Amino acid sequence: MAVQIITVNKVRERFQPAGKGVWSSVPDSDWHSWIWQQQQRIKSMEQLEKAINVTPDERLAFEKSNEMFHMGITPYYATLMDKDDPNCPVRQQSVPKTSELTILATDLEDPLAEERDMPVPGVTHRYPDRVLFYTTHNCPVYCRHCTRKRKVSDPGSAAQLAQLENGLKYIEGNKAIRDVIISGGDPLSLGDDRLEWIISRLRACDHIEIIRLGSRNLVTLPFRITDAFINMLRKYHPIHINTHFNHPKECTREAFDTAAKLADAGFTLGNQAVLLKGVNDDPAIMKELMHRLMLMRIRPYYIYQCDLSQGISHFRTPIEKGIEIIEALRGHTSGLCVPHFVVDAPGGGGKIPIMPNYVVKHEGKQWTLRNYAKKQYTYYEP
Ligand SMILES: *Cc1c(COP(=O)(O)O)cnc(C)c1O
Ligand code: SF4
Repeated sequence: MAVQIITVNKVRERFQPAGKGVWSSVPDSDWHSWIWQQQQRIKSMEQLEKAINVTPDERLAFEKSNEMFHMGITPYYATLMDKDDPNCPVRQQSVPKTSELTILATDLEDPLAEERDMPVPGVTHRYPDRVLFYTTHNCPVYCRHCTRKRKVSDPGSAAQLAQLENGLKYIEGNKAIRDVIISGGDPLSLGDDRLEWIISRLRACDHIEIIRLGSRNLVTLPFRITDAFINMLRKYHPIHINTHFNHPKECTREAFDTAAKLADAGFTLGNQAVLLKGVNDDPAIMKELMHRLMLMRIRPYYIYQCDLSQGISHFRTPIEKGIEIIEALRGHTSGLCVPHFVVDAPGGGGKIPIMPNYVVKHEGKQWTLRNYAKKQYTYYEP
């Protein structure tokens, strides 16, 4: 059964198609095939040079960093890159820079202690009632800011079938778990059959309520989300999908149409952005991103402070920048457009929300508060 897009009104016209760029001669049937997009990923300098005018820094970074963290860019995502501007937000997220080679003394190999909190390989169980379940280490695009650089893109650490089976057994046997986040890498790098095997096992557990899928394919390879995939997944409702848009430029017609199909098929959609210097560390850009997400029926969920992973220090902003962004959103736009700004605490402390301070004074039963426009109000407790 084909999944119809119901939302074909004027809103859709506000989203520009990404088009095919330098791949204009590729037939639509190939372009819209996720297998073709995966096979044609930009992995070499020769391929990259066809898409953009590579800078000396990018060339050097590619040579030096490819051993550590591969380059991989789908043709679809590559069409969003500015050919000439190395500071293009899409380019910065996908093309290596030599700044990646810098490792600071405060950088950590596993900043979130995801390995320490692993009762079995591939499952991080930190909060009592929910787990992260790593199902693959592959992604269509390797994000230069990836917090799991230590594992993602490294075929040697790919979760084998036996590991998935052990992870499922752990979750099935642990009645305290009511929420499973299927993560990676990008779980949509797996085929539909493997995903259905995992999700059907989870849905069969009486203690599992929430099943979340964390995937960036909506951003990097929307064609992965086929009608067959949607029809498979909707059988296991309720399913929540969290994606990872970081910049308004990524909100294309292709992404809009795919999000529309998912929303029409009953999935709730959320977004987890990462605050990245030079990409989206600007209240105006973040506000535009949140507005575009809401037009796509994707609810902003988190903005993450950049983690202390190795080789991403050039993306880090001061924490104040995140506070400034929330300050610029809260009250100035719809509350639906305001995500939580969180620091995932180094050492495995979990996500800690950070907010502008709206309490001016608190004495006994008297609270002096300030609003978004910095006007003060007093609330008296009974
Ligand atoms: C982020 C995360 C979760 C989910 O946290 P929520 O705040 O519920 O979205 C669960 N486990 C781990 C280890 C995480 O990093
Ligand atoms: S899609 Fe996610 S896991 Fe994959 S490289 Fe990007 S940030 Fe890392």
